[in-house]
Amino acid sequence: MEISTAAIWESLKTIPDPEIPAVSIVDLGIVRNVEFNDDQLKITITPTYSGCPAFSFMKEEIIRHLESAGIFNYQIDTSLAPPWTTDWMSDSVKAKLKEAGIAPPSHKVECPQCESQNVDVISEFGSTACKALYKCNECSEIFHHFKQI
Ligand SMILES: [Zn+2]
Repeated sequence: MEISTAAIWESLKTIPDPEIPAVSIVDLGIVRNVEFNDDQLKITITPTYSGCPAFSFMKEEIIRHLESAGIFNYQIDTSLAPPWTTDWMSDSVKAKLKEAGIAPPSHKVECPQCESQNVDVISEFGSTACKALYKCNECSEIFHHFKQI
């Protein structure tokens, strides 16, 4: 096996989050570890919100990337401890979310358009359990907030 773990990380960085295509599954902190045990590649992933149905899709995408890179001897472990939290998102990821019109995780929800905190929650559950739907009272923008956990 000539492929490096660094190359695998790079490949995984090209897999977008199915719900938030602006960020990758690596950006979100879903991919925890990539290592070789002898010849077997082991990838550890942690699901985000337990209610998110996208997890099995992400796993399939990882497998698709590995196999297209010629890696067939792999194991994908799902680790639930420590649980994923939004703290695992870097500031650059939060900036990408904001550019995509999604308020990043924070206790103070801010409109991604005008940065006003004068916002009201419309629904605790937006398009998915991960996101709440808000309305900005300043600029009338309707936006999703990636819930802080
Ligand atoms: Zn606004």
